[in-house]
Amino acid sequence: MEQLLRNVQTIIKAEPVIEGAGVKLQRSIGGQSLRDLDPFLLFDHFGSRKAEDYQAGFPMHPHRGIETVTYMLTGEVHHRDTLGNTGSIGPGDVQWMTAGGGIMHEEMPQVRPEGNEGFQLWVNLPATRKMTQPRYQNISSQAIPEVTTHEGAHIRVLAGNVEGVEGPVTGVGVTPTYLDVFLPAHCAFTHYLPRGQTAFAYIFEGTVAFANNKPETPTRISHSRLLVLDNGERVTMSTDDEPARLLLIAAQPLHEPIVCYGPFVMNTKTEIEQALRDLQQGTFIWSEQRHS
Ligand code: FE
Repeated sequence: MEQLLRNVQTIIKAEPVIEGAGVKLQRSIGGQSLRDLDPFLLFDHFGSRKAEDYQAGFPMHPHRGIETVTYMLTGEVHHRDTLGNTGSIGPGDVQWMTAGGGIMHEEMPQVRPEGNEGFQLWVNLPATRKMTQPRYQNISSQAIPEVTTHEGAHIRVLAGNVEGVEGPVTGVGVTPTYLDVFLPAHCAFTHYLPRGQTAFAYIFEGTVAFANNKPETPTRISHSRLLVLDNGERVTMSTDDEPARLLLIAAQPLHEPIVCYGPFVMNTKTEIEQALRDLQQGTFIWSEQRHS
């Protein structure tokens, strides 16, 4: 049976924002035009060759109740947290951090002649896992499998499955798909996504034509745009004379109440007040004694 096509439902133009100690970002989820896209809470694209746009970075700050996913294309971000983890996220690496019950960390982009470019996604945690033990999945570029389809698309599989190849990110609450898709000129690509999952694409190079219910007029979208896909089972896209590159991201929605306060995302106002109290009293960071 023919799988039901997912059409482009909404096209979002990113909003420029300044975050951290003064980092310029382009925000497509978590801004004015798209507050959230269950289970995704935020999606930022950062990229600049000018050190003053990014070098102030994100000094020590808390998170609770979410996962933050950093995927680098160019440059390097140094990372350090209050659990004693340190490291660096370089080109092609992904860091999938489960903040869970509480973490404080800093994320400092390093000044490089080639600049700094990448993405940060926030994924909500289900109520049952908001206070879970913090966890890191630091995955180096070499550990991310790349699939070349018979039609010639090159796909880095960070999470999810392409032609039987499984991405290395595992064990998070919402069974995510996170693909970095490179389409040469005149290349088609179809990906199957479970019905009921929330799905979006973010085009950051070139122009992509998305199949819709009118085969003669596909929806052509040029970079940089985020597009929300409607429900269905597959997304089908192609390029014309130019290559293109996009992220394809999907996950199971949670359908739970969201109460946000900066870097805390909980289900109730009381839980946010608790987070602020924990921060004041020095009991914010997750510990085995308090949470098991
Ligand atoms: Fe952070």
